[in-house]
Amino acid sequence: MKRFEIEVNPHIPPRLERLQELAGNLWFSWDRPTRALFARLSPGLWSAVHHSPKAFLKRIDQQRLDEAAEDPVFLGTMKRVLAAYDAYHNNPEVAQRNGSELAADDLIAYFCAEFGFHESLPIYSGGLGILAGDHCKGASDLRLPFVGVGLLYRQGYFRQTIDREGRQHALFSANDFEDMPIEPVRAADGSELHVHVELPGRTVHARLWRAQVGNVSLVLLDSDIDDNSPGDRNITHQLYGGDRRMRLEQEILLGVGGVRALRLLGLQPTVWHINEGHAAFMVIERIRDFVAQGADFATATEATAANTVFTTHTPVPAGHDYFDPAMIRDYLGGFAAELGVPVDTLVALGHSGGRHDFNMTALAVRGSRFQNGVSRIHGSVSARICADLWPQIDPAENPLDHVTNAVHVPTFLATDWYETFDRFLGLGWQHRLTEQECWNRVHEIPDQIFWSVRQSLKAQLLFMVRNRIRAQVLRNQGSEAHIDRLLRLADPANPNILTVGFARRFATYKRATLLFRDLDWLREIIGDSQRPVLFLFAGKAHPADEPGQQLIREISRLTQERGLEGQVLLLEDYDLHVARRLTAGVDVWLNTPLYPLEASGTSGMKAAINGTLNLSVLDGWWGEGYDGRNGWAIKPASECETPEQRDQEEARTLYELLQDSVVPMYYRNAAAGYSPEWVAMAKQSIASILPRFNMNRMLGEYTAKFYQPAARQWRRHAADGLAGARTLAAWKARVAEAWTGVAVRDIVRPQARVRYGEALRFEVAVRLNGLSPEDVTVELVFSRPGVDPLHRRRSFILLPAQALDGGEHLYALELTPEQCGKLEYRIRAYPCHALLTHRFEMGRTLWL
Ligand SMILES: *Cc1c(COP(=O)(O)O)cnc(C)c1O
Repeated sequence: MKRFEIEVNPHIPPRLERLQELAGNLWFSWDRPTRALFARLSPGLWSAVHHSPKAFLKRIDQQRLDEAAEDPVFLGTMKRVLAAYDAYHNNPEVAQRNGSELAADDLIAYFCAEFGFHESLPIYSGGLGILAGDHCKGASDLRLPFVGVGLLYRQGYFRQTIDREGRQHALFSANDFEDMPIEPVRAADGSELHVHVELPGRTVHARLWRAQVGNVSLVLLDSDIDDNSPGDRNITHQLYGGDRRMRLEQEILLGVGGVRALRLLGLQPTVWHINEGHAAFMVIERIRDFVAQGADFATATEATAANTVFTTHTPVPAGHDYFDPAMIRDYLGGFAAELGVPVDTLVALGHSGGRHDFNMTALAVRGSRFQNGVSRIHGSVSARICADLWPQIDPAENPLDHVTNAVHVPTFLATDWYETFDRFLGLGWQHRLTEQECWNRVHEIPDQIFWSVRQSLKAQLLFMVRNRIRAQVLRNQGSEAHIDRLLRLADPANPNILTVGFARRFATYKRATLLFRDLDWLREIIGDSQRPVLFLFAGKAHPADEPGQQLIREISRLTQERGLEGQVLLLEDYDLHVARRLTAGVDVWLNTPLYPLEASGTSGMKAAINGTLNLSVLDGWWGEGYDGRNGWAIKPASECETPEQRDQEEARTLYELLQDSVVPMYYRNAAAGYSPEWVAMAKQSIASILPRFNMNRMLGEYTAKFYQPAARQWRRHAADGLAGARTLAAWKARVAEAWTGVAVRDIVRPQARVRYGEALRFEVAVRLNGLSPEDVTVELVFSRPGVDPLHRRRSFILLPAQALDGGEHLYALELTPEQCGKLEYRIRAYPCHALLTHRFEMGRTLWL
């Protein structure tokens, strides 16, 4: 017997017409009143459709809509929501206030393999996607000229259940694009827009979709269309799904197809941002395009790199995306032929560290002139990982910089804070996210009021926890008695139990089970009936990640362990919705990654801005966020010999902090209803972290450090038919050839001891080997003895003075030291040209 489906859609009454506009713009993903507006129409349906406004409007009862159209209260609320929506979209003042110096015709194109805006658009898997989503939202808030590019997956983020034995079940269901806040992009004649990408032996077609994210657009590519073979329809089937070949095809579609999509839409980005190596094939397509317009390969490469920004998120070389060079040759052969270069020239763009695999990070670095990691620690780790791309440059000085991640405050700040902030920080605090003085006023919020907001957030969380645990247990054939037992501490009516959250992807480096290393000690800490502690765990493991799933089994087993039962709960189906609730609602947010593998981490920021206290290893963002008064830090035990010892040491610190500090502080003065010390720390958490780890700060840094300079470099390289790029490419070729013959020797070195106030003279001769004196910078680098010369250094340029015999040139400097004491100096020469983006981008330097 066959089953057929039919869906009856309601008529939207004319008065409610604009609900469809609200449903079609991801503005709702950070505007809580908009979501509340939908929810109040039918709370049951709202949660049944997983908070998808479009699906909601297609299924809601006609009668309910007709009633709402006559309900003055509903109409009044809708009017306010729409007024805010219109003000947001029509407010040019914001753009001026955040006045970036990007020109009117600048456009930043931001490519990423995943985007996490909201649970109703499940095309993300974790932190990278949420960050990309927040990046777009922030760009919309600041009205940056910005367009996102990604893939539209038929199966995005899976839904998770966990059975009695702790086994994760991944439920992949096909996304119904009609239910998602996206629209096909159409030509003027109404036809769908498609792009085409050549893969070995065939052409793949992709349909374009658009998601509207406030003021900015996101273009998504979808290969699941009739024009493609069944195999090719599968390319965008699943996020990070399939084998290596499928991954490669996805990445080619994203990088190459993405560039073509923007061209098809008539967009001409002046800045290109590769967010994680997956999207790096955009470099090849842009080079191809310049060559097709008549540039030579080297010029095309310079022009492409000049305005490309690359952000790496991976802290270990093994985490980078590698492909088999034979497979790459297969896929890039056609491009090489078109470019008129041997395919190995393209393959070499992906080499690193002497390895012959094709590394997407190496391609992205070679194809960009602006590179960064995502926290200070991660920036220096990445500079070391990528060091061989600038072989003669110390990693501390190479171009790999950092911009620390952040979160989109409106998305993750709980509604309950809005009113309190309006009252105590002053109206308009939303526009002052990065102003420290504004946030210092958090300390002026009366303790009782502050605490009541915190308690209310916790009660809302516990309400959700109860419902979810109940459903989980019942599904796994547990009894009511068992449910009562599990939920004895999770009581929304009594949110006075210290509650600690741990939720993120279950990847082994995150060490979700570190807390359980010494169960006796843990029981001692949390088992005091006067001062109990409740732990909430949640997270998904990639279906192919067996060790990750093992972690879930282990935690599930621990939830049933005597002395932990009811004190450790494991929630299913961690997603953005759960993340918002958990980070805002718990008292403490726990994170125990293995240093330095947490490139940044962002869930701790979501917690901190809501007054939840972080208890974390000093890794990633927490290395910068922790100030001694806004949470607790576990110092990485880096001196340990074995990983075992290291876990042991760090677990000990964790227990000591919990036992000696966290638990006693929370329960101090419990009779008064709250702990003043706790409240002071929670206020400090908001006041010190919110102004620094919000998207406006992050995008301000990207704009000042990368977007504006990239746009400037673009103009300098592109003018007059790429004259700048051509000049630079020719100069680099000349320098590369001459450099091995360049030599430095000193002629005049000052005495080793001088009096204060005496001038010193330095003279150096450089054998230029055919280069001109202006092609080389000669630099004197001062430091204090014993201090790494590249840190805390002062440097001075020696100027070209005159030609010497034998092809040498004299460089000289006269200088009067400003300080007494012992100084060390070194002298170096490196190539220099006004069109270089970074002075060490050639990776060459010569020390005397
Ligand atoms: C914020 C967030 C993450 C990232 O969390 P980390 O602890 O930084 O890894 C992952 N998943 C979801 C659903 C999130 O909201």
